[in-house]
Parts: sequence; C-alpha cells; structure tokens
Amino acid sequence: MASIALSVQSERVATTTLDRVLPAGRHRVEGLYAHVPFCFHKCHYCDFYSFVDADDRQEVFVERLEAEVDFARERIEGELRTIFVGGGTPTLLRPALLARALASIASLRRTSSSEWTVEANPETVTLEVAEILVAAGVNRVSIGAQSFEASHLKKLERWHDVASVARAVGLLRNAGIKNVNLDLIFGIPGQTTEQATRDVARAIDIGIEHLSAYGLTYEPNTAMTKRLLRGDFEPASDELEAEMYESIRSLLAREGFEQYEISNWSRPALACQHNLIYWRNQPWWALGPSASGFVAGHRFKVVPRLTDWLTGGGLSPLDNRAPPIVDHEAPDEGRHVSEALMVGLRIVGGESSGAKAGIDAEFEEQAVRLRPNRASIIEQAICAGVLLREGGRLRLSDRGMLVADGLLAELV
Ligand code: SF4
Repeated sequence: MASIALSVQSERVATTTLDRVLPAGRHRVEGLYAHVPFCFHKCHYCDFYSFVDADDRQEVFVERLEAEVDFARERIEGELRTIFVGGGTPTLLRPALLARALASIASLRRTSSSEWTVEANPETVTLEVAEILVAAGVNRVSIGAQSFEASHLKKLERWHDVASVARAVGLLRNAGIKNVNLDLIFGIPGQTTEQATRDVARAIDIGIEHLSAYGLTYEPNTAMTKRLLRGDFEPASDELEAEMYESIRSLLAREGFEQYEISNWSRPALACQHNLIYWRNQPWWALGPSASGFVAGHRFKVVPRLTDWLTGGGLSPLDNRAPPIVDHEAPDEGRHVSEALMVGLRIVGGESSGAKAGIDAEFEEQAVRLRPNRASIIEQAICAGVLLREGGRLRLSDRGMLVADGLLAELV
C-alpha cells in the first residue's frame, strides 16, 4: 500500500535493539510510522510484510505495540507533525484492539492538528471502524482501491468488491473523515489506457482529496512475479505504461488535482504531509515489525518477522520496550546526500501544500562536491530534457517523470 516500500518481507533476524544504537536522550522527529502486518488475503503483487495470521496474534501484537509506544514516548522530542498507520491492513484489527492500538499511538500526539492517516482495505470499513478512527483522532484514511474493474482486481488477486470502495468512503464521510486517499494501480496485464484512465475518473467521481497511482511493479518472489516468469500473461509494455501515465496526469490536471510527486496528486493544499517527510528526507520514528525509521541520522528497520518482534528478536529481555532492529546504518554524509537527492527529485510540485519541486542550488552543489561525476549526469539530463533548472532549483521535467528511476539510479 502507500508506505513507499518501507516494509519488505524478509527472514532476517534482529541484530540489535534501537536503544543500543541511538544517542542517549530525546530526538526530534517530524512523523511516526506504525506497521500492522495482518491481512485477510495476500494480494499477488504485494511485497510488504503482511500475511494471513492463522494463529490470531492480534492481542499480543497490540500489547507489544503499546510497549514500543512507551519507549517512543520517552525518546521523542516535541510534536509529531504526522502519524501514518499502515500495513498490512490496520483496520483488520478487531474493533476493541484497533481502538486500543490507536489510543496508545494517540498518546504520542501533542496536538490534534497533526495529520493522522490510517490505511484501510475497503471491505474492512464498517460504521463501527469509521467511528473508532474518528474517536481516536484519525483525520485521513488511505484506501487500497487499485482498480474499478473486477477482472483487473482478479488478475491482481485482490479480494474486494468494486462497489465496496464508494461504500467505505461514504461511511468514513458520515463518521467525519474529510481527507481520503485512494491507491490505484495501472499497467495491469490486459488493461488498456482507456480502462486505466476510467479507473481514475471513477475515483474522482467518488469525491476524494488525494490519489496515488502506481505502475504495477513485479517485485522478487511475489506470486505475480512467479506467474509472469511462468509465462501466464504478458506484462504491459513500457510504451503502454507511459501512455497510461500521461493520460492519467492529463485527466487529473483537468480535474484540478495538483501533482506533487511522481505518483501522487491532491486537491490544493492537501498533499500527504507524511509522505513529504520521506521525500524531504526528514526524520521519522518507526513502530511495528518491518517498519523503517530515520532518527538522529540513524536508519534502521524494525525486525521483519512477527515472531521475532514479539519476543524482542531474542536480543533483549522481554521487558525491553525498545524495538529489535536490523539493517542499522549510522549517520554518513555521503549516504545522506544520496538519499536526499533521490527522494528530493521525486517531488515535482505541490507549492500549495508547502512542497517545493526538486532540489535547491546549494544542495546540488553539495551533491556534486561529494561525487563530481554527478555534474555531467545532470548536464546531460538537462540537455535531454529530463531535468530542468527553474527558479534556482533542479527538478524533473514532464518527460523526466517517465524515466525518473533510471536517472535517480545513475545519480545515487
Ligand atoms: S491488502 Fe495491501 S498489504 Fe495486504 S496483501 Fe494486499 S496489497 Fe499487501
């Protein structure tokens, strides 16, 4: 779902705990991401850490999450501007447990004006769930719609009824949620440009504030990739995906949506502030198995297996509330600049939401100083019309959005 690859399924075991790598004291973070790994079915394209839990460990999950919240409360400095509860399917938690998990997370929030998003599968949104979200203080919901064609949902092995999306949005509206995102996927095998554009039109008709539209990607080891490798279907060509993307962009622009990132559009001033934290390379805290965090210059991933996470990764006594982590990276200027370059160039607009497209001249200079060959890559990309220099900033052009992945890989 919309947590930009923050949670990749893995069997890696914990190597340390967060309290052992962070400097002592409190740390300023802009946002917080919490990961709930449960789903009622595994969609075939999905490589997030999510699974159908035959052992019904929802209650112990919430208990452990509360312990991590206690640790976070002692170590976070100041106000959280955003909270994002993703998954998995957070709204799959039984109502009493969902309310308990949200109440715990809410205790980290010092202002009700912060943006608080919860991801939902449309089939899991009931009036009771919508009211629990609102009572906790959630003010934004992100729904995985993916497509409005039943045959395309079937190709993705996505288990929800097309009509459930509008029904879920209606229930959320009635409960008081004013900011709704829908996720859509284009480039589904067999999909035409007209169908992909019609999906976006149907999302707009529902009356949403925000849309994320991603080209289908074939991640290693997913069921969809195995079917592709078996030759079960033909993937969409790059040309067709580019045509779909252009058509989707034009429709959204005509309908008054502002594009602020390669795959994200919003009504004016309603860009997702949480995602902007990632793209500005600002710090955020992480809770829950497989969640990635960036605190005081340290990057880490919470151990990505529920069993390990519940037991502290076998590294800490059970009463240690600090998350067990893997993939820890200590602060490093070169890495930090590479990451900031990669995410900063993904921002393509969004002034009304406080976003600025691309990177400024000072940062560009720092990036080139650290790796001089970037200067020629940038100049070539400008000559090829992929990058633009505009108002003292370097940014992707319209054409650049189609080839951004290759360019960013070269730059970092
Ligand atoms: S509902 Fe979302 S997180 Fe769960 S399996 Fe499907 S895509 Fe993955």
